Amino acid sequence: MSANNNAEKPKAEPVTGLDLLRQPFPAHQISKLPKETKKQREEREADRSKGINCQVCGGWHHRNAVHLDYVGHAALTDRLLDTDPLWSWEPAAFRDGLPAFDNTGGLWIKLTVCGVTRLGYGHAAAKPQMDPGAREKEVIGDALRNAAMRFGAALDLWHKGDLHLTEDTADDAKDDAASAAVLAAGVAIDLCKTESALTKWSASNAEMIAKLDAKDKTEVRRLYGVRLEKLRNASREDIVADNASDPFSEAA
Ligand SMILES: [Zn+2]
Repeated sequence: MSANNNAEKPKAEPVTGLDLLRQPFPAHQISKLPKETKKQREEREADRSKGINCQVCGGWHHRNAVHLDYVGHAALTDRLLDTDPLWSWEPAAFRDGLPAFDNTGGLWIKLTVCGVTRLGYGHAAAKPQMDPGAREKEVIGDALRNAAMRFGAALDLWHKGDLHLTEDTADDAKDDAASAAVLAAGVAIDLCKTESALTKWSASNAEMIAKLDAKDKTEVRRLYGVRLEKLRNASREDIVADNASDPFSEAA
């Protein structure tokens, strides 16, 4: 549908029907969801300085939280409409004429696309200060994503990391979380406006960096080096570099 796709596949038949649901989502339709570990959340709640107003997702969360890719409700709805303008969903069950949310607040739905119906399940945690109905809407969006995944929508994103990462599955997702950590580190590095800010960042994130595998550590080191050089070139003042705080030392 985009110029890019046409360039890659000049004479390909247009993808239609359920196959369209399986097409990867373009980058601009992929959003970032911050994911804190339980420890990070507790740390941030106890000490506000552990949090950041994140430039990646626009949220407030622990500075070392990773981000997961996900497709938002609007992008998914757009894709469902492109696939089948008559797509529909309904709750799997009703109670007193209303969708039957289960006793944890989750909801089973049936999603019908191109005449095929598949089940999906959504849930969402209640958060303080949520608008009335906001949790229910989030549950529906989550159930639609889940059901659409059964049709192959955004599978490439889902296999990288589950939106509902729990402490139990954290180990399974470790490899991908590390890559997300590189992404987050890259953003943080780029936000450092001075060499001393960069040094400070590396010192306060030494623990996180030390935990990265060799490949990710190399990448963070590269990003750090690129930024350092840029800042040094841009600097109009002489700032003494503090090489002693190099967080990438293999001894770490
Ligand atoms: Zn963020």
